[in-house]
Amino acid sequence: ANALFSSLGTTIFTVMSRLAQEHGAINLGQGFPEGLEPPDVIEAARAALTAGPHQYPPMMGEPVLRQAVAAHEARFYGLDIDWEREVLVTSGATEALADALFGLIEPGDEVVLLEPLYDSYLPIVRRAGGIPRLVRLEPPHWDLPREALARAFGPRTKLMILNSPMNPCGKVFSPEELVFLADLLERHDAYALCDEVYEHLVFDGRPHVPLMTVPGMRERCVRIGSAGKTFSLTNWKVGLIVAAPALLEPIAKAHQYLTFTTPIPLQRAVAYGLGKDDAYFDGLKADMQARRDRLARGLEALGVGVLACAGTYFLSADFRPLGVDRPDAELCRWLTTEAKVTLVPVSAFYAQDTSDSPPPAHLVRFCFAKRDADLDEALARLGRFF
Ligand code: PMP
Ligand code: GLN
Repeated sequence: ANALFSSLGTTIFTVMSRLAQEHGAINLGQGFPEGLEPPDVIEAARAALTAGPHQYPPMMGEPVLRQAVAAHEARFYGLDIDWEREVLVTSGATEALADALFGLIEPGDEVVLLEPLYDSYLPIVRRAGGIPRLVRLEPPHWDLPREALARAFGPRTKLMILNSPMNPCGKVFSPEELVFLADLLERHDAYALCDEVYEHLVFDGRPHVPLMTVPGMRERCVRIGSAGKTFSLTNWKVGLIVAAPALLEPIAKAHQYLTFTTPIPLQRAVAYGLGKDDAYFDGLKADMQARRDRLARGLEALGVGVLACAGTYFLSADFRPLGVDRPDAELCRWLTTEAKVTLVPVSAFYAQDTSDSPPPAHLVRFCFAKRDADLDEALARLGRFF
């Protein structure tokens, strides 16, 4: 398939947010939270901006943030991380993903990817010269298809990308699934790029389990986090990478030529934020879970089919029980222009140009990380429409 960026379309998030604005629709499409921004973290950035300095920070990131990341890894996951050699600060998880893919993939390497997938993975894998091996998870349960996955691994597999909790379907991989993956990675001497940007958004009392904590995986995993998600500040674009030195070194080489650094005030404020007490992290989870439940209950009351969501700030829904049988992309346009509610089609999270069977076209993604009033108004608009 085509690796040229010139052949790519505009990301679905931009397309749908633009359309929402044009039509005065409530935007439950693009994933960004509203009403959860922690004022003290913002204040820490303000103070750091005033204090300066205003010139380049160290290429690997501010020491105070790298130390805070190491402390976070120990506190939440029991991981012993060397902040000087095993932590890299990037401008968002988006850059972290690109750094890792450009740093680790050599042309011809195979990369195992699970569909549905976040939209930045495939273009970068291909541009780095990687050969994607796509494996599909099937709704409504999105269980790991173990046989298909085992078949996707081979002698040329360099790495797999694992997004848990998983956008867009809200799946959290079970400990058993992680052990199965660890076994495959070990047998094929492959790495895992673990996109864990929603690590603090796992619900119903379950813990987040990084693949990196599974026995044998400490040296094979690149763990990616995002301050945008952890502090509901997606504008900030502070990404975090934790990996063993042998993996982090080539990744840092990519980073030095992609962005080199990230603004100091934001790094220092995120360092402060990572040290916040358990009440903050528990509160974020509880608050987001309440929003999930508010939206899910409202949709169910309308007769919409709601799929389970164990993490992230997204849930998928099926409008067929209402007698609506339009393909998801068309449904999302129609709901934006007519009902004034914007969602994102789940089919956008599949490779668009393979000869595989077409992706499911009956699911739409709701972002529930919004103010109660907006969730309620969106439900009211849908209620009037159907
Ligand atoms: N990975 C996933 C799965 C995401 O949903 C997002 C959200 N935007 C990102 C990466 C990118 O994160 P960031 O905004 O920190 O670049
Ligand atoms: N990750 C967010 C989502 O899934 C949006 C990121 C973006 O707009 N690029 O909606």
